[in-house]
Amino acid sequence: MRLFYLDESGNPELSGASDSYVLVAVGIPIEKWTACDKAINQLKASYNLLSSEIHTAWMLRSYREQQEIEGFDSMPHEERRQAVIRVREQKVQNYKANKSPQALKSLKKIYKNTEPYIHLTYSERERFIFDLAARVKSWSFARIFAEVIDKKDYRPPKPDLTPEVQAFERIVTRIEKYLSHISNEQKVYGLLIHDECESVTASHVCNMKRYHRRGTFKSEIKHIIETPLFVSSDHTNMVQIADCCAYALRRYYDSADAALYTPIKARADKIGSDIVGFNHYTSNNRCECDLCKAKRKRQGKA
Ligand SMILES: [Zn+2]
Repeated sequence: MRLFYLDESGNPELSGASDSYVLVAVGIPIEKWTACDKAINQLKASYNLLSSEIHTAWMLRSYREQQEIEGFDSMPHEERRQAVIRVREQKVQNYKANKSPQALKSLKKIYKNTEPYIHLTYSERERFIFDLAARVKSWSFARIFAEVIDKKDYRPPKPDLTPEVQAFERIVTRIEKYLSHISNEQKVYGLLIHDECESVTASHVCNMKRYHRRGTFKSEIKHIIETPLFVSSDHTNMVQIADCCAYALRRYYDSADAALYTPIKARADKIGSDIVGFNHYTSNNRCECDLCKAKRKRQGKA
């Protein structure tokens, strides 16, 4: 049996801020779960992050307050934390006096989401995320599936298909093909575990039931059981890994930064040397990303 952990990156609305919407599934054999969870906890512990959820996008922001504290890098972790909290409390007071309620709300949101990581410098936070990606790269038993939707050039076959539903259906189809491929006389089953997310829960459950009855657009579903289970990412290390992978793909597509994408891509599902687990969905038939170029080459259109 395989467990597939799903998470997304980017805004699914076509009018949203991000250029791309990414859905990722990280699959591991059920018997490897304990080793994976332990490896993540060991790495977290070495950065004083054992009780924290890893949210890659929040971790890799620049925290301006840290630069305002003299000698920050040479302080012990707890001293850094207290120093950042003092600066932030001061800033909140300034905002209350001089800024709009909306600006204050945004500031508090940033502080709340970055609070678990304020004891680490930017380069330490970056090193942690790259260490995490290196762990995932070393998991030869893991397979990653990803659908990257180019929202600027999004023309789906059915116009009412949202990026979220389109990405989910394509990931389900690809996982089904993978499970079918690795099954022999013993059928290998898969279970989807999704980051808890109010906006997609009902839709994914309803669509999965439909796929069980009638298949997806491209495939019958014979190896994936149940509807997706929804879990809270703050308690589930493997969903945090899926978050890191989804972020890596969005960085590559939205900011042309391949540094984190390269180690993650090493675990993409492949047939031979062809990556079949990742797809860039775009109507731009001259896209120069490595996935589109490889696809054109396979189809003899290069
Ligand atoms: Zn592309």
